[in-house]
Formats: sequence, C-alpha cells, structure tokens
Amino acid sequence: MAFHRIVVKLGTSTLTVGTPHLSMPRMVDIARQLAALRAKGTGIILVTSGAMAAGRERLGFPSLPKGTPGKQMLAAIGQPRLMALYEQVFSMYGLIPAQILLTRADLADRRRYLNSRNTLTALLDHGAIPVINENDTVATEEIRIGENDNLSALVANLLDADLLLLLTDQVGLYTADPRSDPDAILVNEVSEPEIPEALWKAAGGTESGLGTGGMLTKLQAADLARRSGTTVIIASGEMPDVLLRAAAGETVGTRFLPVATSVESRKRYILAGGRASGAVRIDPGAVQALGRGSSLLPVGVKSAEGAFERGDSIRVLDPSGREIARGIANYGANELARLIGKKSEEIETILGFNFGDEVIHRNDLVIL
Ligand code: GLU
Repeated sequence: MAFHRIVVKLGTSTLTVGTPHLSMPRMVDIARQLAALRAKGTGIILVTSGAMAAGRERLGFPSLPKGTPGKQMLAAIGQPRLMALYEQVFSMYGLIPAQILLTRADLADRRRYLNSRNTLTALLDHGAIPVINENDTVATEEIRIGENDNLSALVANLLDADLLLLLTDQVGLYTADPRSDPDAILVNEVSEPEIPEALWKAAGGTESGLGTGGMLTKLQAADLARRSGTTVIIASGEMPDVLLRAAAGETVGTRFLPVATSVESRKRYILAGGRASGAVRIDPGAVQALGRGSSLLPVGVKSAEGAFERGDSIRVLDPSGREIARGIANYGANELARLIGKKSEEIETILGFNFGDEVIHRNDLVIL
C-alpha cells in the first residue's frame, strides 16, 4: 500500500516523551523518518501540538491562573520556539518546514478554505513540509477547534490526504480503558461504515497528560477523515520507525478504513451545500460534454445568473433552463461574466489571474 499524501499529527505527549520538555532526540527521530518518506516522493503535512508546552518551558514553568489568556500567552511564546526546533531538526535532513496557523473559521469559509488549500498545495509542490498548528494566540472560543486531532482531520480533508496518522502515547484504541480494565483488547482495524457505539464509549474516558486531546477527539477525527476517503491510523509515537511502518501499510496501532472516496465526499458536500442561488446556463455542446464526464469550460457557458463567489455551489442549467448538474464554481459571477464563450487559454489575459481552465472541475460536479 503506497500512500501519496500523509498527514502526521504529533501530540504534545509524543513530542515531550511524557516529560515537561520538548524532546530533541524525539524530534530528530521524526525528522529522519519524514525525510525517508519525502525521498520516496510522499507529500507530508505535519499537524503539531507542543506550542503551549514550549511556552511553559521557555517561561520557566510559571504557575498561571487557569483560563484562556494564560494558554494563549504560552502559545504565543512557544509557537516560534516550536518552529525554531523544527527548523533545526528538519535542516539536518534537508527538509523545509513552513508554518501554517489555522482556526476553524479559516476552514469553514469556502473562500478561505480554497485559499488555504492553494497555499498548502503550493508548499507541497515545492517539496516543503507544512507544519500546522491551531492559531491559538488570539482565537476566541467560538472559532477555535481547541485540539489538534480534529484539526488534522480537517486538514486531511482539505488536502485529499490518503493517510492520517495520529501519534499518541497509547498503542492504539482499546475496547475499554486499558489502565483500569485488564480485559481491554487493542482494536486492530475498524472497517464498519459507522464506528461501533462500544468504541465511542470506550474512548470516552481516556485523557492524556499535557495535551488537550484524548482518545475521544481521536475517534472524532478518525470518523471525520475516513468519511472523506482517508485511511486513519492511531498509533504510539514510542514505536520505533512508526511513521515508516504505517506508511508502508504495516499493521500498527488501530487502523480505520475509509468509507468513501474523496471525490464522493466532495460531491456529497456539493449536494449538501443547500441553497444554490447562482447558476450558469450552458450550450448544447457543453451539455453533451458534461454527460461524457468532462469539466465545464468557459467556452460552453452562455450566461451567469445570480450572485455567486468562487467556491460557492451553483446550479448548471441547460439551454431550456432545466437544472442538469450542480458544482463548485472556480470563478465568481463577475469574473465569469467576462469569460463567457472564451477559450480557457484566454483566462489569464482577460482576468489577470487564473484559478484553472475550468468553470467547474469535473471532480466538483454532480450530474443530476
Ligand atoms: N495547539 C496546542 C499547542 O500547540 C495543542 C492542542 C492539542 O493539544 O491538541 O500547544
């Protein structure tokens, strides 16, 4: 099994090896494995915790009142420190880290979602390793995700990753809490379309030390990511060569099989998009082309109707006005108005920029 694009989520406990300090040997070991994967052409995205731990360390372990400002202060101090350590260990292996700080708001808004995707894709195309954390420093409760398990699942979805590897201080997911129940058994694989209720229950009580995520948020992340076509593995950061072994398809920890392809899941998103107020009317040639599975190009568009932005779900109408498809617009209504009937090669000249040849890419198109 070869994975092309892997999101690796590192929890605080993995980076500190259970101590109050970020562990350089651990980070070097991770960089070594990432370099081996990169050398095979695998795209790597890191989602990393540890900013607060680094901040706490840098401040000399102050005693702080509980609450958000204290944590945000620690993240503000620790995030650059964390990145400096990544820079240091990555450069030993010729890897290039790139910092990306996200919040829920960046991924919930379709335009910011697409923009994040473009930036991350450009980084991957240039062989860099995006190192992502939540933008903790000033984010308010409402726009925070709050832990990096769910953030990593959203990132896996954003980038169509085929593997999400959640590294933690546990061997994997157990049928019960292994610390209190001697009969707890490690779950090797979850292949059911819905994660069994018993596993949700078993995950409920497991919280681990410094980080904010426990087994429950890992299970939520697995649930989310597998629905967008990603295999998910929860495994221990202590296992030697865990990244290499998981990426090679070896059974490590708990594996969740995907329950949809990423294209299927995007199409569901399009149809679930609800109210699509904008529309494009297309010519008979384009109707035929869509029927053959092609993308919609500007040359086949007769008119753009209603107000819509790039990234909105829009209706595709045949010459008689009947809705024949729905899809995600690559260009907003105002831009599209200038592209009607034009060849895709002309887009750049007309608009001064280019989001691709297609008005709607076939992967973003559902024929009704
Ligand atoms: N963003 C937090 C940090 O870097 C960690 C969140 C988490 O533990 O999931 O410290």
